[in-house]
Amino acid sequence: MWSAVATWEFSLQTIEKAKEILSQNGNALDAAEAGVRLVESDPNVESVGRGGFLNADGDLELDGAVMDGTTMKFGVAAGVKGFEHPVTIARAVMEHTPHAILVGAGAERFAREMGIPEADRSRLITEQAKKVWEEKKKIGHDTIGAITLDPLGNMAAATSTSGASMKTPGRVGDSPIIGSGFYVETGVGGAAATGWGEDIMRTCCSFRAVDLMRYGMSPQKAAETVVLTAHETILRHGGKPDCIALVCMNAEGEYGGAANHQGFTYACGSENDAPHVVQVTPIIDKDSDTKG
Ligand code: ASP
Repeated sequence: MWSAVATWEFSLQTIEKAKEILSQNGNALDAAEAGVRLVESDPNVESVGRGGFLNADGDLELDGAVMDGTTMKFGVAAGVKGFEHPVTIARAVMEHTPHAILVGAGAERFAREMGIPEADRSRLITEQAKKVWEEKKKIGHDTIGAITLDPLGNMAAATSTSGASMKTPGRVGDSPIIGSGFYVETGVGGAAATGWGEDIMRTCCSFRAVDLMRYGMSPQKAAETVVLTAHETILRHGGKPDCIALVCMNAEGEYGGAANHQGFTYACGSENDAPHVVQVTPIIDKDSDTKG
């Protein structure tokens, strides 16, 4: 059995790639990384990799992460400039250093030492991204977060984002933070988040979801429970919840997703389910605070 799930409609290409790799007995980590790289290179995806949202200085600073659910190792490259594929730097951190997280100039130097290709500013920063930046509006953020299962039962996670538009330089959101933006354990399940990173980090969404699946909850129920709990926790402590969305997969390759806002979509596919996009009905709507 193979299976793949990833945040947002734009990751249908990730699922197609994962299908290609996993249906030929490829491994979960290779499929997650290769699938995320496609989105990183797609200039039409405004919140990931090339063409991603710019920070307040008009610069592109990318975050990426991978986790191997079989070894429980993870790797992160955060706040990286001048590279198109933070997910690949993250994998190299995991596989070729005794560390898990490298940031900024250190991550860039390491990537160069590993022979990971740099990318020109003119390729990374698209006209569309410049136009959005010139409007100086905080208009968005989104992440690709992918979970994969291979026919041997190995599971992996990979995430990549440019983070919030107009972010303060140096800001890191949840996407490269283990337990918040991603978590996976072979034999149990995996989860990946998208939304306002500051809210996702303070409620540790991905680890919580995997733990619920550990105790037998379905991926759909785990996603809904975590999103609702995170939303209500923030409210209870006097905050105003922003966007929180999650995709989950269990060790059997079943998947699900939930959000506290309108418009969340995810892409998925498995041996038994052709790649497709799911429109999520919010479990609660942050803009009206009514249960969906
Ligand atoms: N969670 C990402 C961040 O805060 C953005 C997103 O997924 O919408 O950087």
